[in-house]
Amino acid sequence: MSTINIRKDFPILDRIVNDEPLVYLDNAATTQKPKQVIEAINHYYETSNANIHRGVHTLAQEATDQYEAVREQTRRFINASSTKEVLFTRGTTTSLNWVAQGFVKNLLEEGDEIWVSPAEHHSNLVPWQQIARQTKARVVYMPLLADGQLDMATIHNTLHKKVKVMAIAQASNVLGTINDVKTLAKWMHAYDHYIVVDGAQSTPHMTIDVQDLDCDFFAFSGHKMLAPTGIGVLYGKQEHLEQMEPVEFGGEMIDFVYDFESTWNELPWKFEAGTPNIAGAIGLGAAISYLEAVGMDNIHQHETRLVEYVLPRLQAIEGIEVFGPTEASKRSGVISFNLNSVHPHDLATAMDMEGVAIRAGHHCAQPLMRWLDQPATARASFYAYNTLEEAEFFINTVKKVKAFFE
Ligand code: PLP
Repeated sequence: MSTINIRKDFPILDRIVNDEPLVYLDNAATTQKPKQVIEAINHYYETSNANIHRGVHTLAQEATDQYEAVREQTRRFINASSTKEVLFTRGTTTSLNWVAQGFVKNLLEEGDEIWVSPAEHHSNLVPWQQIARQTKARVVYMPLLADGQLDMATIHNTLHKKVKVMAIAQASNVLGTINDVKTLAKWMHAYDHYIVVDGAQSTPHMTIDVQDLDCDFFAFSGHKMLAPTGIGVLYGKQEHLEQMEPVEFGGEMIDFVYDFESTWNELPWKFEAGTPNIAGAIGLGAAISYLEAVGMDNIHQHETRLVEYVLPRLQAIEGIEVFGPTEASKRSGVISFNLNSVHPHDLATAMDMEGVAIRAGHHCAQPLMRWLDQPATARASFYAYNTLEEAEFFINTVKKVKAFFE
């Protein structure tokens, strides 16, 4: 069992919760922050805080340089070909709304289709519902196999030229499935159409290469990968971003403002209206440095081993139903499950009494809950700092809670 010896960097992991040591297994909702990230943000506020781009004074230059250096760092992290293709946003939700309103809406005609999976997070669904309503296009759900994986054969056989856009998560926040977005991109490009990838649950856990995936757009959130809340990224191919309309207007994103109309700044600033989350971007830079030092492949392998430990042991508990693929090799570190007659909220509350933080609810995926025929699920999600001992404690706590409810 590989362990990554990084827990000492995360002050919050020393917390005692309900008289028990915290076992934090809600990483799909948000991750904890290492002191390197917290210190980078403090250091920025203590030494260089200023508004960026507009100032000639030293602090403004320093803040601008630090902010733009993170754009370059992010470009390398996802292997975009230019910093013009890396936009800072508030998070995945904002990124996807920008693509929907600024790019896809202008492509759609009555009768066109937007294909999504029933497992999408509401952030990769509701923006498409909105523009479908506005343009008389349709949102169409792609089929899933019984274990929640995409039915790739049927998708390939039924894809057609009215499907202008496919919007798909690379990794599901509920089922833990990992979708083959590279193949889907190839199929969409055969029609000269587009794929938008929601990378919120994949970017923190595996190496991302947007050029290799050949996706048109790729969105992710800093807070799910050790960075602060309120900072995220939208990657888009330069040719698309040149064509895409800004969705927010105001300072910073303009080139020239005439009395009754304006022209836009060049990429990537054309989209970043107003004072951005400068400290958040600096925190994101520190988080990327941290992840790179640990190694994305190490993180992926470590989580796979934790899932290989947890999955069969959870499945073996009588009365537990685990959703998603049965083999660990087909999953990320997210495991959703239910204990037959116990409501997931009661289960999660009982686990919390033992110090174990898991999530219960619809996980912002109500269509998927209907597909699963469940009102809600419990969800444990692992990250680089979780240990085998925590995985073992999690299994034992599920057994203890089950015995309590029986
Ligand atoms: N997409 C997926 C798959 C997610 O898991 C989440 C967050 O849980 C989001 C999108 C939305 O991310 P944010 O709330 O950071 O915008």
